[in-house]
Amino acid sequence: KIVSRFAPSPTGFLHIGGARTALFSWLLARSKGGEFRLRIEDTDRERSTDEATRAIIDSMRWLGLDHDGEIVHQSARADRHNEVIDQMIAAGHAYYCQCSKEDVDAMREKAMAEGGKPKYDGTCRDRGLTSGVVRLKAPQAGATAFRDMVKGPIVVANAEMDDMILRRTDGSPTYNLAVVVDDHDMGVTSVLRGDDHVNNTPRQILIYQAMNWDVPEFGHVPMILGPDKKKLSKRHGALSVMEYEKMGYLPEAVCNYLARLGWSSGDQELFTMDEMQALFNPDNLGASPSVFDLTKFEWVNGQYMQKADPDRLAGMLCDFLAREVGEEEAAKVDRATFARIAPLLQPRAKSVVHMLEQARPFIVDAQFLHYDETAVQQHLTAETKPLLEEIAGRMEGLGEFTEPSLEALHKQFIEDHGIKFKAIAQPIRVAIIGTTQSPGLFETMAVLGREQTLARLRRAVS
Ligand code: GLU
Repeated sequence: KIVSRFAPSPTGFLHIGGARTALFSWLLARSKGGEFRLRIEDTDRERSTDEATRAIIDSMRWLGLDHDGEIVHQSARADRHNEVIDQMIAAGHAYYCQCSKEDVDAMREKAMAEGGKPKYDGTCRDRGLTSGVVRLKAPQAGATAFRDMVKGPIVVANAEMDDMILRRTDGSPTYNLAVVVDDHDMGVTSVLRGDDHVNNTPRQILIYQAMNWDVPEFGHVPMILGPDKKKLSKRHGALSVMEYEKMGYLPEAVCNYLARLGWSSGDQELFTMDEMQALFNPDNLGASPSVFDLTKFEWVNGQYMQKADPDRLAGMLCDFLAREVGEEEAAKVDRATFARIAPLLQPRAKSVVHMLEQARPFIVDAQFLHYDETAVQQHLTAETKPLLEEIAGRMEGLGEFTEPSLEALHKQFIEDHGIKFKAIAQPIRVAIIGTTQSPGLFETMAVLGREQTLARLRRAVS
């Protein structure tokens, strides 16, 4: 059974890159009916914050990346890490070292001067010391190899690897040691993580081997670049997952876009979460960096907006309105109103926030409608106003106030006047919505309802 994990360091919000790593790891497990675990790597007490931990957990929940089992906090496991270090010392796979920083620096310089990698020279390997930092007694011959799920075979000569420190002078276990012990104890079989960790992997494998533990499979995903091919940063757009939530993106659209940044299945662009789970295969993870493309991201989100359940969007519109104007004000617009507006606006909505902007003319009372001045001057003229007044009168007497009945009424009206629909369409639109942009006129009027439509037409001609 596959057990994968996401192991973020809680030093800031969950960013796009981290979320993508989490998603791939989650898909790896979910596509095979495995388990997905979450571990917070909070051993760096100076840089880790509870706030960041919460932000990461919230972001993952929002994205729908559910995890199995309890969340593991690395900082709570120092005793266990030390226990493993002691076992390694007892078994002769690790040793105490008392070389000073100056000694080690000198060794490194010497190794480099001789054309090798900077390296600790093993001075304390066989001194049988009983205190100091603890180092791994790494094999000096042979090579450490693994097949990276993304990059393919990777081989590193053991001679190139240091006898790395497992426990520092202050007694704290080092990062590589903690990761290995935690992954082992959590039963992790598959480690998918960022490219920046690829050099740690052969070192971590040495620890697995020293402990005689099963070595998991590893995959390292390349980083995400901005359109200028530089490392993705703030100037390329929002980086935090939750900023997209605030902008009114749908979580499944974010997952879909992130999945496509570095993963493909034929030339399909849009995947439901279920499809992604069914189709995910780490062999299709790309080995070269992907480029973040905000325009495409917006497009993907728009596609999801079109397909979303209108009732869900109605609920989101209520929530977003409440965030903006407060619960009390927002409660004045009932959800049923949004439920009527949602299907009308969703074909063109880029995000929930955009949709709420478009919804504004529908939810305000006629007297508060905002008019675009240019549109008013162009369309509400001495010529059009009498027409609007007359058509309002006809609407008053209309039986049912529905799309088809309104269409028939307008048809009759233009016939009677010998004018084109064009001659009244924009004036009516400006009168009832305030701008020249709105969904189909009859749908718009039907959703507004007779009372609001008439109030607006009359306000516009007065
Ligand atoms: N905590 C590491 C990071 O946030 C990830 C370590 C790992 O996945 O092994 O970069």
